[in-house]
Amino acid sequence: MFDLSYLIDPVYIATIIIFIIGLQRMSHPLTARSGIIWAGAAMLLATLVTFLTPALSNFALIALGIVIGGGFGYIAAKRVAMTDMPQMVAIYNGMGGGAAAGVAAVHLLGPVHFVTGSLAIVGGLIGAVSFSGSLVAFLKLQGWMRPRPVTFTGQQIVNMAVLALAVISGILVLFQPSWSPIPYTTALWLFFLLSLAFGILMALPIGGADMPVVISMFNAFTGLAVGLDGFSFATPNYAMVIAGIIVGAAGSLLTVLMARAMNRSVRNILFGAFGATEETGVQIQGSMKSVEPDDVAVMLAYADKVIIVPGYGMAVAQAQQKVKELMDQLENRGVLVKFGIHPVAGRMPGHMNVLLAEAGISYDHLFDRDEINPEFQSTDVVLVIGANDVVNPAAHREGSPLFGMPILDVEQAKNVIVLKRGQGRGFAGIENDLFYRDNTRMLYGDAKVSLGTVVQAVKKL
Ligand code: NDP
Repeated sequence: MFDLSYLIDPVYIATIIIFIIGLQRMSHPLTARSGIIWAGAAMLLATLVTFLTPALSNFALIALGIVIGGGFGYIAAKRVAMTDMPQMVAIYNGMGGGAAAGVAAVHLLGPVHFVTGSLAIVGGLIGAVSFSGSLVAFLKLQGWMRPRPVTFTGQQIVNMAVLALAVISGILVLFQPSWSPIPYTTALWLFFLLSLAFGILMALPIGGADMPVVISMFNAFTGLAVGLDGFSFATPNYAMVIAGIIVGAAGSLLTVLMARAMNRSVRNILFGAFGATEETGVQIQGSMKSVEPDDVAVMLAYADKVIIVPGYGMAVAQAQQKVKELMDQLENRGVLVKFGIHPVAGRMPGHMNVLLAEAGISYDHLFDRDEINPEFQSTDVVLVIGANDVVNPAAHREGSPLFGMPILDVEQAKNVIVLKRGQGRGFAGIENDLFYRDNTRMLYGDAKVSLGTVVQAVKKL
């Protein structure tokens, strides 16, 4: 057999460049899809070239792992509904963390050198935390566990104690001191079990609404763990090191940006148990007034300017195609149609942009919060499609759990039509007084069905 191992490092460098190009393309909705393909191609290339590593054995086992993992991933990704994407990201990210912890464990089972051993300990700890924490996130988002924060007295002390014990067992693994009260393998088991326990404890007090932020943080953890593991081989694996650092950096930035969009600190998200308590003592004035689709059609068709504000409910209803039909009908009649996109509408960053792009709504129709907020006052009708928290004026009220979250000020428009199925609350779980305002009308029903009826009614006018 030829020794082609000299190809490994140059190909790794090439894949890293492709990863960076892919990531750069993911930063814009129009190029995001191609960015995913670039990054996927780089991953495939890096995996293939790894087979040239000298003395690599167990090919059958590796192939079996790839077939099982790849097959499962392919089928799951084909089947997943757009609204279930966050939990899919959570579980796949968890697998990455678990794999990183596994690589660290294999390293620690062999003769441990101090520098690479310490990197494996840190990588193993972070990877295991990411694995178990992401699994809890998956269970909560999938609805297989109560999404509400799980809290108990002394929680943070218990969490810190478990983390401290994990670190102590890691130190015992690393130094193997003669005075150690437990044998090496017991310390290694303890280290991983305590790290896994810490991941679970860290995710338990986090409510469903904050989960996407936390998943992004675990994603950064996985990247960091993989990067550290890259150093634990006899010759460092640069693809792992650099790709891990990129994921770690991108995940950290995303975490901070998402937290900022919700006007919360990452610390508050991790320790605030958001959603554990409800807003109390708020008297909402007025009553909810429903409206018929025919009346909505008239209001929209004869308006000069309409702003559509989509939210999580549009994703649940998969109503984006109907939204496009309505937009086309209105534009044909000379109505100016714009979209107001809140950065945390839906359940993942860019959720609305992806859905609207999928329906063929061009990007120049979409405006972010700062651009669109000054326009509501001069708008005839705002159509809120399955959005709730991102248009909740409670965010302006001190004491509200949403206080401080920058929202879309839709209540300033002349008329507000809200499409939702019933009295369901947003993910923050608090009442929305927008629905009770004089200028608000509720069009009850599944957003896709309601929009279909409105589109037909507009066509008849
Ligand atoms: P919300 O979750 O606040 O509200 C969604 C509304 O949609 C519900 O009130 C529900 O009411 C309605 N709805 C559900 N299904 C349908 C349907 N089939 N047809 C019509 N309406 C429907 O959504 P928002 O987008 O306003 O807010 C997102 C929330 O998620 C925020 O709290 C945000 O902080 C949080 N979040 C988002 C992240 C992101 O990255 N995007 C990250 C972290 C958190 P009803 O049951 O009556 O129909």
